[in-house]
Amino acid sequence: MDRIEHYIAGELRSSEAWLENFEPATGQVSGKIADAGEAELDAAIAAAQSAFPAWRRTPGAERARWLNRLADLIERDLEALARAESEDTGKPITLARSVDIPRAASNLRFFAAAATQFSSESHLMEDGAINWTLREPHGVVACISPWNLPLYLFTWKIAPALAAGNCVIGKPSEVTPKTAWLFSKLCIEAGLPSGVLNILHGRGPGIGARLIDHPAIKAISFTGGTATGAEIARVAAPRFKKLSLELGGKNPTIVFEDCDWEHTLEETLRAAFANQGQICLCGSRLLIQADIYEAFRDAFVEKARALNPADPALPETRQGAVVSRAHYEKVLGCIEQAREDGAHILVGGEAAQVGGRCDQGWFIQPTVIEGLSPSCRSNQQEIFGPVVSLMPFRDEEEALAIANGVDYGLASSIWTKDISRAHRMARNIESGLVWINCWMRRDLRVPMGGMKQSGVGREGGWEAMRFFTEAKNVTVAF
Ligand code: NAD
Repeated sequence: MDRIEHYIAGELRSSEAWLENFEPATGQVSGKIADAGEAELDAAIAAAQSAFPAWRRTPGAERARWLNRLADLIERDLEALARAESEDTGKPITLARSVDIPRAASNLRFFAAAATQFSSESHLMEDGAINWTLREPHGVVACISPWNLPLYLFTWKIAPALAAGNCVIGKPSEVTPKTAWLFSKLCIEAGLPSGVLNILHGRGPGIGARLIDHPAIKAISFTGGTATGAEIARVAAPRFKKLSLELGGKNPTIVFEDCDWEHTLEETLRAAFANQGQICLCGSRLLIQADIYEAFRDAFVEKARALNPADPALPETRQGAVVSRAHYEKVLGCIEQAREDGAHILVGGEAAQVGGRCDQGWFIQPTVIEGLSPSCRSNQQEIFGPVVSLMPFRDEEEALAIANGVDYGLASSIWTKDISRAHRMARNIESGLVWINCWMRRDLRVPMGGMKQSGVGREGGWEAMRFFTEAKNVTVAF
């Protein structure tokens, strides 16, 4: 049984209170998680504050060496980390091996490079005066991450924060704490200076709420649910803490009659069901042009039926378990709600039975539904599970009205060979990310984030480096 401890002032440290950690594929307890309280928070803040003066003076190239060293260690331990991620989340081991863990290393390497490139800007005025704009780290910042892509999103936040010269209190999800804990052991092995990074485990409404409220925290980078984001904004805004909020989505996938059929089928299926539909970028509303609606729907349903949930530890598994009992019940409840609203369930709609060691696991059949109005609950609320809702549309105008007719605005994808139409749609769609004839093609340089209730601010590239720094303009007149 794992005993997942905090990482404070360069050492592992436990708590008086403990939570249970579960393996979703078996439904069994896999370990205990230290649940941080006031004392651990104070110790972490004190460690970060005392590390800050030296860390901010550390040259960018040296900070980059630390981040690269951590990336080396992640790559060395890729297999163990992928196993831990798959065990903790229920995601297929193949996905953790090919996406989650390699991407965690890439995040560190990408922002290591940024640390060596990010610099002050200067602007010459007509009379010869010079403005130089310093970009200074904030001090101690909080990075709070969710359970769906645990190490991937944790490193996506801490890497730019550290690269920019801040000291960090990281708070991974209490649902999936394991890889952040293993990462803290790698920080100890690397000899990362004490207090530069601290990791506190425990409940969101407990240690998470305390952390964001602490006066020493100057900026908060948060990824998670929209309701939690609203609560964080409520607490942080009157204290003028800088906020980056990456929240939920209800992303449209828009398929036109002239799409590249096979490619579109494969990729829209992946967009709907990757990681059991638990990626904020997943396309959970599939809009299909009326002329091809029936043919596309039937082909899509056939492919969805072949996605059999199975033991995530097996290399051939493509669909694993959903992350927790609470989430399993929530998703099944949403399917029930869709039924009550009159949905026609084309495939799935039930828990999936996976035998053997996974007998008690939290598996849900990939589910495709149709027949609901765009404004009903199932087409408005984020379900965040293996459930996709199909809707026909006549033309661009109707597709846009449906796509934009939700409170969210994170991501969208458009499938057509007509490049002019694709551009028109991209211009008019309300989402922070638009993919044309692809899904989840990520480039770490581009701004990543959502409009409307999908968030505030952008991560990625220079956006993240700017978020984690304060601009100070100095004007020199001659
Ligand atoms: P969540 O909001 O429940 O929790 C996210 C994190 O916040 C966890 O670490 C949790 O412990 C912490 N937390 C909870 N309450 C808190 C509080 N009051 N104060 C401070 N911290 C608190 O989200 P989740 O269920 O872990 O993740 C799923 C959600 O995340 C989905 O809505 C999904 O769309 C969203 N998400 C968004 C993106 C994006 O980039 N926009 C990426 C991944 C996931």
